[in-house]
Amino acid sequence: MSHSNEIALAIEDLTVSFDGFRAVDGLNLYVEKNELRAVIGPNGAGKTTVLDLICGKTKATSGTIQFKGIELTKLPEHKIVQAGVGRKFQNPSIYENLTVLENLEISFPRGRGILGALTFERTQDVLDRIHEVLDTIFLSNHLNTQAGLLSHGQKQWLEIGMLIIQDPELLMLDEPVAGMSVSEREKTADLLNRISRGRSVIVIEHDMEFVKRIAHKVTVLHQGKLLAEGNMDAVQSNPKVIEVYLGH
Ligand code: ADP
Ligand code: MG
Repeated sequence: MSHSNEIALAIEDLTVSFDGFRAVDGLNLYVEKNELRAVIGPNGAGKTTVLDLICGKTKATSGTIQFKGIELTKLPEHKIVQAGVGRKFQNPSIYENLTVLENLEISFPRGRGILGALTFERTQDVLDRIHEVLDTIFLSNHLNTQAGLLSHGQKQWLEIGMLIIQDPELLMLDEPVAGMSVSEREKTADLLNRISRGRSVIVIEHDMEFVKRIAHKVTVLHQGKLLAEGNMDAVQSNPKVIEVYLGH
């Protein structure tokens, strides 16, 4: 493990109220560079809302989110993307009518926007990067496959590819292995371990076996608050965590 101990993301006293209901309530969370952090917790704990707050989809009621020293709570979503934050939603948002290759091409930073799309060329460095990503996401043999024909797991990998081609410094994934087969889960664990080198990754996940395979440190949320944090063994034997999970 080569941890630099450099904090990439610092969330302090973060709160969001929806009509007086605090979905996230006074949360403090620190994620290091090169860290792969798992966030777990029962349904409704506020996990997805935390990602919504980081990527600017939801605005905080109070508190701060500092990413590389940049305050994110005041920025619009596209500026947060530009600052280096990539986020994968629960359902893959890929272009089903385009091929795997085309999906990656339009996600390539220079290919974005109308002008970018019009002037886009398949230069060698673009193709090299695309092939590197295809290899990472196990889709090298499917570059000309229409994305809509991929399996559920392959679609999830393609969307991860569309994010990593942009080389975000913070990548956030919401339940990436939901609906995947056992072998797809194993490959995804391997994929996430590889792509967390050189960036920070936050993964929300329910599957404890999967979490054990990927995370060094686990954060447990409950009712919008931090319930426990530590390695998987410490978290799993924590009486407060056991109580919350047995209650569900
Ligand atoms: P989790 O991802 O941990 O299952 P969520 O973050 O989706 O939980 O939701 C936490 C709580 O906040 C839930 O009770 C949910 O109904 C509520 N919530 C989330 N987003 C909104 C919203 N935009 N308006 C009102 N309530 C919301
Ligand atoms: Mg959720």
